[in-house]
Amino acid sequence: MYQQRVARLAIPTPLRKTFDYLYRGNPPCVGGRVEVPFGRQTLVATVLELSDTTSVNPNKLKFIKRFIDSEPLLPSKLFSLIKFAAQYYQHPIGEAFSTCLPTLLNKGTPASIEPEWQWSLTEAGREAIQNLRKNAVKQQHLFQLCLDNGGLIHEAQLSQHDFTPSYLKTFEAKGWLHKDRADTQSIYEPQAEYQNPVTLTSEQNECLAKVSPHFGSFKGFLIDGVTGSGKTEVYMQLMQQALERQEQVLMLVPEIGLTPQTVRRIERRFNVPIAMLHSGLTDKQRLNIWLKARAGQLAIVIGTRSALFTPLAKPGLIIIDEEHDLSYKQQEGFRYSARDLALVRAQYEQVPIVLGSATPSMESLQNVQQEKLELLRLTKRAGDAKPPHIKVLDVRQRHLNHGLSQPLIDNMKAHLAQGQQCMLFLNRRGFAPTLMCHECGWIADCQRCDRHMTYHQRFKRLHCHHCDKQVFLPKRCPECQSPQLNPVGLGTERLEDALTQLFPDKTIARIDRDSTRRKDAMQNFVKAIKNDEVDILIGTQMLAKGHHFPKLSLVGVIDTDGCLFSADFRATERTAQLLTQVAGRAGRSKDIKGEVVIQSHHPDHPLLVNLFTQDYQTLSQQILSEREEAQLPPFAAMAIFRAEANTLELPMTFLNDVKQQLSQTGLIVYGPFPAPMPKRAGKMRAQLLVQHSERKMLQRLLSPITPHLEQLQTARKVRWSIDIDPQEV
Ligand code: ADP
Ligand code: ZN
Ligand code: ZN
Repeated sequence: MYQQRVARLAIPTPLRKTFDYLYRGNPPCVGGRVEVPFGRQTLVATVLELSDTTSVNPNKLKFIKRFIDSEPLLPSKLFSLIKFAAQYYQHPIGEAFSTCLPTLLNKGTPASIEPEWQWSLTEAGREAIQNLRKNAVKQQHLFQLCLDNGGLIHEAQLSQHDFTPSYLKTFEAKGWLHKDRADTQSIYEPQAEYQNPVTLTSEQNECLAKVSPHFGSFKGFLIDGVTGSGKTEVYMQLMQQALERQEQVLMLVPEIGLTPQTVRRIERRFNVPIAMLHSGLTDKQRLNIWLKARAGQLAIVIGTRSALFTPLAKPGLIIIDEEHDLSYKQQEGFRYSARDLALVRAQYEQVPIVLGSATPSMESLQNVQQEKLELLRLTKRAGDAKPPHIKVLDVRQRHLNHGLSQPLIDNMKAHLAQGQQCMLFLNRRGFAPTLMCHECGWIADCQRCDRHMTYHQRFKRLHCHHCDKQVFLPKRCPECQSPQLNPVGLGTERLEDALTQLFPDKTIARIDRDSTRRKDAMQNFVKAIKNDEVDILIGTQMLAKGHHFPKLSLVGVIDTDGCLFSADFRATERTAQLLTQVAGRAGRSKDIKGEVVIQSHHPDHPLLVNLFTQDYQTLSQQILSEREEAQLPPFAAMAIFRAEANTLELPMTFLNDVKQQLSQTGLIVYGPFPAPMPKRAGKMRAQLLVQHSERKMLQRLLSPITPHLEQLQTARKVRWSIDIDPQEV
């Protein structure tokens, strides 16, 4: 140890360590950013602590170049949360910080709010918009927004609705709009609500009564509420209470683009500043939201996974909608679970947290068992809607017309005849899962992955969904030159074509990643469906999430068999969740009877039988006891070391070295094995599974070892990572 004043820094590098730097004069601010020389680069780092001693010879230490912040960047509890997360997920702390901060802050931009603007409708404007042309859709939209908002439109709303400030210039020039600085005071007044809350059912009231007393302290809840039971309504009334306490609300949702309705409902309910953190924002917008939330100028922040790290001046409530959703776990880089960390954050911040789902995860159900979460139930659909009638249709030996059995087609006809909507669920986008040569049996495999390439007829391409490689459709078989290349299997495009033939006078909407690539596409689909402009919906799992389509009465699941047989121990849980969610889209209004038809070649499969003779709740309890018996997560803590390189030998050797390092720890180690998909994007992949009966012990045993792994000779030849609490094995 050397006596030397140093600042200990988190620097965004893949190294699992902190770095000591010297400084001249007054010390930098702990929790603030500094600029430092690092190798040949200059990097932005976060000051973790100051120290009077260092283990590095001071002659070798470098000086900090520049102090960026004179105050801590993060509220102290969030600062602690990120430090905790880096440690828990065994991730380099510098990278953890840079993942959690907005891009511009990582680049050293000052942490100050850029002025924001608002436009108010003038008298002249009010008159002029009476006479707008009918086909001036964009203008109509803009002014309607203004009117809905009491004659004002804020910069943030503009971008949410795809308007730019420059588009407004014309109207400023005409004197229709008046631009001035947005008033950021008086934002907490939960004003007259745009859309009044409904009268809660007794179950909903009970939820509210259970949570309310815990404002101002930590307590975790799980709302297990069947689809359509009014969870969102409960969230909103809880939000209202937090707002009345002048506190901020953080709400996480799986994917904002996919759930525009939930977001819209919240916007319409509360007349307070709300920010949506979605992928469409500019870096500057993201930074401003971050800073405003930190300054307490935003009342509600809604976002996906990474929104968890939004600083809040006065947090009051955290909500995690659809808590079972896989998207809460980051699958690359800093592999955190936003749901799990949200519980930690709520504890640090001393606020209540509410997780909600119709199909709770095993992790949360176990937390209920262990009394870490209090279970609240909503067993009935709100507003008199009845649960749908579900039947499993045995399609063995039945003729299938592009995957559709006659009984399902007849069923669709009956529902359509009553003016209702049908939805067909098929979790495979593209025209067909692959292409095959009729002459020689050649199959369109991806050269870079152990998978077939999907045939996309609309784009006239073959596309690998695993590495994103795309090639033009071959005219002839590359093996035998035959022109007879046939699609094999069924994808959403092909189903769409088949339905167009079967129902020529019906409007069909296909909703998958391909058809919703454009920014507003999902929103437009949702609007069209709600306006009854669509008769038949075809969708992938995108449609399973949280949508509420009042006229949808029949859900058909085209092909379940693919989900029933999988090596992953989570397959049953996932399939049960998916099918329950999909089924839950049917019959969500009081006068429409919902029906669900599940086509299967394995109608006797225990999962299907259990799911539909009982319900998700019963089934999930069974799954939970099976997991306990087998000592699988959540009853054991798991970590996976993954490695990849150009040959399989390199990752296997590295992982064997890792295994060696772990041999004295008492951890249970399985492998190394080639990954379930050994070749992906041209790399050969392997993995090593590590388990311990206790989370804390797994962490304690791994922590001292992981920093050494990057020193291993064999580590240099592979790309490797640790995944704590992996969601995919
Ligand atoms: P979930 O989030 O559980 O799927 P929602 O909150 O979206 O359920 O509610 C489903 C539908 O029922 C929505 O149209 C909602 O407006 C309506 N709803 C919710 N609570 C009530 C209530 N107490 N009375 C009448 N309608 C309700
Ligand atoms: Zn051929
Ligand atoms: Zn590929």
